Amino acid sequence: MIKNDIAIHWFRNDLRIHNNNSLLNLSQKYKIFPIFIFDETQPKEDSANYWWLIHSLDKLNQNLNGNLHVYHGKAADIIRKLIQKYNIKALGWNRCYDPSSIERDSFIKEEFKKFSLDYIRSENSHLLWEPWKVKPTKNKLYTVFTPFYKKGCVSDPINKAKLNQPLQLVYSDIHESESLFNISQFNLPIWTQKFKKYWKVGEESALSTFTDFVERKIDQYKDRRNDVDSEFISQLSPYIHFGEISIHQMWDNLNKLPCNNGVNHFKSELGWREFSYYLLYNFPDLKEHNIRSEFNAYPWKFNETFFDAWKWGQTGYPMVDAAMRSLYETGYLHNRCRMIVASFLTKNLNIHWKQGAEWFDLTLMDADLASNYASWQWAAGSGTDTMQYSRIFHPVIQGKKFDVNGSYVRQYLPEISRLPNEYIHCPWEAPQSILQNLGIQLGQDYPNPIVNFEQSTLEANKRFEIIQHLIKQNRS
Ligand SMILES: Cc1cc2nc3c(=O)[nH]c(=O)nc-3n(C[C@H](O)[C@H](O)[C@H](O)COP(=O)(O)OP(=O)(O)OC[C@H]3O[C@@H](n4cnc5c(N)ncnc54)[C@H](O)[C@@H]3O)c2cc1C
Repeated sequence: MIKNDIAIHWFRNDLRIHNNNSLLNLSQKYKIFPIFIFDETQPKEDSANYWWLIHSLDKLNQNLNGNLHVYHGKAADIIRKLIQKYNIKALGWNRCYDPSSIERDSFIKEEFKKFSLDYIRSENSHLLWEPWKVKPTKNKLYTVFTPFYKKGCVSDPINKAKLNQPLQLVYSDIHESESLFNISQFNLPIWTQKFKKYWKVGEESALSTFTDFVERKIDQYKDRRNDVDSEFISQLSPYIHFGEISIHQMWDNLNKLPCNNGVNHFKSELGWREFSYYLLYNFPDLKEHNIRSEFNAYPWKFNETFFDAWKWGQTGYPMVDAAMRSLYETGYLHNRCRMIVASFLTKNLNIHWKQGAEWFDLTLMDADLASNYASWQWAAGSGTDTMQYSRIFHPVIQGKKFDVNGSYVRQYLPEISRLPNEYIHCPWEAPQSILQNLGIQLGQDYPNPIVNFEQSTLEANKRFEIIQHLIKQNRS
């Protein structure tokens, strides 16, 4: 088919060519003018997320034969100008689910009707189940994961109609040389330079990471995923966040595998991601406000010294410190470690979940508004599942269980790495003679614990009693 007319495909969190629903639809009839816009919904320039985004755009641009155009500013203004200047006939994108994007996209859909384009359409290419389509239970929102996943989601098969269809891209001949993507025009923060040691960005790497995980690791996923230096996790989160891999394609491939505990468990973790998006859609201000309003009365107390110690891995609890240093070093944190450090910050240090979520937002490569803020609220207890509050992770017990021989702690805390296994998670228990022999001076080479765990846990439980009382009052 000869294509004369031009369509804009507006890339956002779908930085791939394969199984990209909007791109596929548009390319069947139109020449494609691919664009990306840096507006207020994009990551901050000093964040790990930004590092990934720029490298991801670079890969995408290569796959688009150098045709990607990037713009900075208000999306509606930029697209309006392009439509008028180049007689664009169609506009398409894949949906985002954060409130700012929803507001922006709804405005554009409405506003651009006056241009009488042949086609202006958004597609789902980011979620398995759109939040508004998840069947409610007894007309109530799901507040707990398992019923959401089992009753609301998996009982409803995903639409596979568009999977793995051939894509025949013809590019428009628009070339705005000052807007063509060029990685050298972006200043990446110095602290993110080390990430290239750890990550390969782009859709080819996303697919090979997924294939390797499915071929070599998934069968052991359920049993081994909690070990903090586990090789049996996928580390797909940044690829999924930026849409370098199609979630529908992943799901379809998983459904073709022999069914076992590993496969089922991995699918349920993808379900947790869907749950986070469902919560974000139904509680659009979850980045700012407690999902449970009872927590508005919670006596958080910001302490800068504690917060700095937490951020930079200087709390005196090796499991917390190794996790926080690994986050800053690699831009990634194992799920178990995320739970440990979130519990420690909100419960033992009594610092608001927002502070922790903002630090993760800056330092995580996979920082995702839905998964990050929903998970922080879940960990703090202010989310839909309040039972979480009473779950306080003991960093020493967690360390002994999930970093059995201390290798994770040793990797990130060289100053105590020579301690015997027995004391690697609790250096303050090591006899003075051992410390002396190893030349380790606690309080100087490595901090003493900044809070007493048992005491701070008691205090957290007392604070929670106030909230429990309010929850009971509101129920009656
Ligand atoms: C406090 C806190 C903050 C978090 N912030 C983020 C975040 O900003 N971005 C993010 O993608 N995940 C976040 N998570 C969820 C989870 O920790 C990561 O998705 C996971 O560790 C990524 O590693 P992986 O790809 O190897 O996961 P795997 O175990 O291999 O899981 C596969 C995929 O399932 C999804 N997933 C797994 N667990 C969860 C979960 N609990 N919630 C939502 N999705 C999940 C992710 O897309 C992940 O890539 C957070 C969890 C906590 C406790």
